[in-house]
Amino acid sequence: MFAYWGRILRVNLSTGKISEEKFDEDFAKKWLGTRGFGIYYLLKEMDATVDPFSPENKLIFATGPLTGTTAPTGGRYMVITKSPLTGYIAMANSGGFFGAELKFAGWDAIVVEGKADHPVYLYINDDQVEIRDASHIWGKVVSETEKTLKEEVGDSKVHIASIGPAGENLSRIAAVMNDEHRAAGRGGVGAVMGSKKLKAIVVRGHKRVEVADRAKFTSVVKEKIEKLKNDPVAGGGLPKFGTAVLVNIINQNGLYPTRNFQDSQFEYAEEQSGEAMASKYLIRNKPCYACPIGCGRVNKLPTLGVTEGPEYESTWALGAHLGINDLASIIEANHLADEYGFDTISLGGTLATAMELYEKGLLKQEDLGEDAPPFRWGNTEVLHYYIEKMAYRKGFGDVLAEGGYRLAERYNGVEYFMGVKKQELPAYDPRGAEGHGLGYATNNRGGCHIKQYMISPEILGYPYKMDPHDIGDEKVKMVILFQDLTALIDAAGLCVFTTFGLGADDYRDMLNAALGWDLSTEEYLKIGERIWNAERLFSLRAGLDPLKEDTLPKRLLEEPVRQGPNKGHVVRLAEMLPRYYRFRGWTEDGRIPEEKLKELGMEDF
Ligand code: SF4
Repeated sequence: MFAYWGRILRVNLSTGKISEEKFDEDFAKKWLGTRGFGIYYLLKEMDATVDPFSPENKLIFATGPLTGTTAPTGGRYMVITKSPLTGYIAMANSGGFFGAELKFAGWDAIVVEGKADHPVYLYINDDQVEIRDASHIWGKVVSETEKTLKEEVGDSKVHIASIGPAGENLSRIAAVMNDEHRAAGRGGVGAVMGSKKLKAIVVRGHKRVEVADRAKFTSVVKEKIEKLKNDPVAGGGLPKFGTAVLVNIINQNGLYPTRNFQDSQFEYAEEQSGEAMASKYLIRNKPCYACPIGCGRVNKLPTLGVTEGPEYESTWALGAHLGINDLASIIEANHLADEYGFDTISLGGTLATAMELYEKGLLKQEDLGEDAPPFRWGNTEVLHYYIEKMAYRKGFGDVLAEGGYRLAERYNGVEYFMGVKKQELPAYDPRGAEGHGLGYATNNRGGCHIKQYMISPEILGYPYKMDPHDIGDEKVKMVILFQDLTALIDAAGLCVFTTFGLGADDYRDMLNAALGWDLSTEEYLKIGERIWNAERLFSLRAGLDPLKEDTLPKRLLEEPVRQGPNKGHVVRLAEMLPRYYRFRGWTEDGRIPEEKLKELGMEDF
């Protein structure tokens, strides 16, 4: 087997047992990597109804076959587990250098089981694997954790995935952070790590990933890098202005959610755009491992010094979503979110829910405490104050740490929670891109854009321009194609931003050259479809009720947009969803029939 080691590391934190398992090419051809490996283990070995914080929940860190190769953006890994936020599948992706380092150490994935009785970290140096005491770093923020551990193991070249106080204190919106500012953000995966008392994974590897045909792989990779460099987004907008290059574009198109999606255009968008960030604070861009795009931002603020980020989603979640226009405050808040280990989308979503509950009079000043900053739109004080309180579950921060849905439920305002399956929505108002809305509603991990980025065809014109308000069969099928394709790209170990410039055949070329396989594009997409269905199956077993939960907040279905190019529009989900189920080969109530499982070779599950 090429591009894999065929080795899974299994670590049981309850017993302290560390073991190695092998997998063969048949397994690899079926599940490919990252999400595929993760969902296989969850489905095969775990009762989907367990409490996400119980020792029975598994926490899987998995790479893909192209992770650690020279393929463009080949540095990704994923964290797969049962989400404490949604109660369903969580699979959160991250870049940086940790994933590649794990591969260099000779492991394709780590399956973490059980729960330690005191804080620990995992030290991996090639085949040397140890569970070590982490009591002295429990409570530390992410940058201090990384610094302390690098000194302790005496190697500045290790790469570290860790949690901050948010994960330790089981905030349901906590992320796993790596390389200080990169986040496997969504679904509260950091809280599961915290529940296992696992503070960090420290990795150092010295091996080289072997591909099937080095000369061929090198030439295929070269060709794909050229394509990316020549693309106006991957080779132009993203390296120059970061993902926040989208702020102006999305705002002009009338999809930039403002004040908890009450409006779809923000009057100060330009002041917080990627262009503004570049002119005021940017020192340089920072690519992840093997990335020719380099969307990462390194910014310098007079008050804070040098930090990384924010990217588009965080700029919005901590900005327009809260009516906040001060870019310096947004950058500072993003820095705090990274240090404490929060998913910025859910963090902003939770604060936005609080702001609307406050505006509507459901949440009162007496609930917050007299000295606490009021949740008024545009109040930057909220950022610093509550992010810290949430991380340590102090005062009202204890309620906020549970995420926006539970907050809204507590104050009788569930209709003001802008999320799907209890997960906060990202930075696109789907009333201006209805296929994107169908994607939100059907996403396996709840409110999420990145697993079917329909903004590409509906707004940006990739691979071709589709009318954002067309809801015909072609649009519904495109959502399905994007979901399956993204599952494939994730599983391969690549970043989805490569879809600006690359198409399905390009991923096939790279995978075949690395693996020595001869699969067609359709066969690769079938792997993506299998992963999507497997994740759905897990959520169904965990209790998902599709007809109730494959939906959008009432506002997006019933309140027409008030201004801008999408004025008067809602998402016509009811007209798309039955066709989505049909084209997926599912039942009318959104479940997976036996024939479909058989077709995907999943009849054993
Ligand atoms: S495009 Fe951005 S997020 Fe993706 S791998 Fe490159 S630097 Fe990282």
